Amino acid sequence: MPRLNGKPEFAVIGLGRFGSSLALTLAERGFSVLGIDRDRAIVQSLADRLTQTVALDSTDEHALRAVDIPSFDTVVIAIGSNFEANLLTTVAVKSLGVPHVICKATTDRQRTILLRVGADRVILPEHEAGCRLAQELAAPGMVDQIALGVEHSITELRVPSSFVGHTLRECDLRRRYGVTVLAVKRGEHLTVFPAPDFTFAHGDLLAVIGENQSVARIAELK
Ligand code: ATP
Repeated sequence: MPRLNGKPEFAVIGLGRFGSSLALTLAERGFSVLGIDRDRAIVQSLADRLTQTVALDSTDEHALRAVDIPSFDTVVIAIGSNFEANLLTTVAVKSLGVPHVICKATTDRQRTILLRVGADRVILPEHEAGCRLAQELAAPGMVDQIALGVEHSITELRVPSSFVGHTLRECDLRRRYGVTVLAVKRGEHLTVFPAPDFTFAHGDLLAVIGENQSVARIAELK
């Protein structure tokens, strides 16, 4: 399969609700995506919207080799309810030498097993969506978060109303909360490393780095 603009290429195995959303979103963003499912009707229904689609049983290593699975940078295995098929596919894809294999699991035990047989990353979508929703309900100001280890994160926050009209120096987030503002997004404009006299306005989105507990205290401010 030709490489589009030097961008990484993805294969998604299992085109259920999760796999098809993933594959279609990547394709809409201009990536080359091979979609694989053993169900011909599903493959057919997505054929126009993905770069390539193939109907095959992904537990069959020969079939995977025939579609040149080793040439893909990242393969996502999105088979949920049939764990045996997920496991056999993971082993096959890893033994064919794919550098980055991401698997979907439904339980922690499945996650442990998939990591043990070589998966590079395992996600539990329902569990992770539940945690994200709980976080959003607990701290409505928090928009998004990238974990940096266990205790720290880079977090996107809505500016608390109490900061509006005040400068970064006046808010003194580093001394009061131990949190550093990396950037402020206002509409389409991004100010990276805002100066101390930067004044917050309604609707600003802040990218901050710090301890999770400290960041949560800011996210809970009115
Ligand atoms: P969803 O993402 O919809 O929640 P799910 O987690 O319940 O899906 P399944 O429905 O078990 O997962 O599988 C997702 C897709 O994977 C289905 O379309 C199914 O046909 C496909 N699939 C399952 N086993 C294989 C296999 N061995 N080879 C190829 N595709 C498979």
